[in-house]
Amino acid sequence: VAKESGKNRFHLFDTAQDDAVKVQRESLEAIRSALDNHQFVLHYQPKVNMRSGTVTGVEALIRWQHPERGLLNPIEFLPIIENNPMIVEMGEWVIDRALTQINQWQNMRLNLPLFISVNIAAVQLQQPDFTQRLTTLLAAHPNVLPSYLELEVLETTALDDVNHVSTIMNACMALGVSFALDDFGTGYSSLTYLRRLPANLIKIDQSFVRDMLIDADDLAIVKGVIALAKLFNREVIAEGVETIEHGAALLQLGCELAQGYGIARPMPADDIPQWVSNWKANEAWQV
Ligand code: C2E
Ligand code: MG
Ligand code: MG
Ligand code: MG
Repeated sequence: VAKESGKNRFHLFDTAQDDAVKVQRESLEAIRSALDNHQFVLHYQPKVNMRSGTVTGVEALIRWQHPERGLLNPIEFLPIIENNPMIVEMGEWVIDRALTQINQWQNMRLNLPLFISVNIAAVQLQQPDFTQRLTTLLAAHPNVLPSYLELEVLETTALDDVNHVSTIMNACMALGVSFALDDFGTGYSSLTYLRRLPANLIKIDQSFVRDMLIDADDLAIVKGVIALAKLFNREVIAEGVETIEHGAALLQLGCELAQGYGIARPMPADDIPQWVSNWKANEAWQV
């Protein structure tokens, strides 16, 4: 009997594993078909300078307009393809779509330049021919200055070879594109990346910003990252600025750039021009 149930258990486990493989395969097929059927869209979240009251740019954030499940956030699909070549294909689509969008906003003659930040996966950046691919994408949008594009690299991803990545980043910067270190402070090599990677902007991770008003440790980290950015001559932006009070505290600490629900949620491209023309810095920030 014992042997029998042992066998059964093994059989159950085996089935569960088969199911997981099947689910993964079906998910990959669904994403493949979503790419082919143009179901991905970009939403844009404004980035502002709280002190000067200007909108400095927008971050492109991918969404899946799923025919049955509605608008899906990246957490629902990016992890499925993080080790699949589709992440590169999707990433190139995002850059191409973002450049098209900048061009459209330029043609509308908004009375400000709108810089666009695009998130890129580590595997995408580490492709041997990334610089060449980026050159091709930029060439397809001759009316867009490469300096309008910023690439956000996830600091949490273990970049295999810092030398290699910094070489690629320098080559891209020679094209005019700039870089940001995203989710700064959450990875294992934050300080190495800061020292070795030529990113102009550091994004303080939202997990530290969220509780900075109630948690002394988080506040210390926020202060530390702002100080590091200054010492290393980099710009710094706070992510996850959910309230006016967060903004005021950050301003007092010397961080003028901010992004978060307290300023604006990510929105469809069509809503951006109106939002930009209506936005005013909060009075609480004018100290
Ligand atoms: P991220 O680049 O750090 O982007 C910030 C995320 O925080 C976004 O989530 C944004 O909607 C959300 N957020 C912004 N302000 C606030 C706030 O005040 N409070 C809270 N709680 N959340 C806020 P989203 O759009 O779900 O994206 C999640 C992550 O997915 C991004 O984190 C980025 O790492 C990745 N991602 C998004 N789009 C792309 C893409 O096109 N390509 C790649 N490779 N990754 C992407
Ligand atoms: Mg980002
Ligand atoms: Mg981030
Ligand atoms: Mg993040």
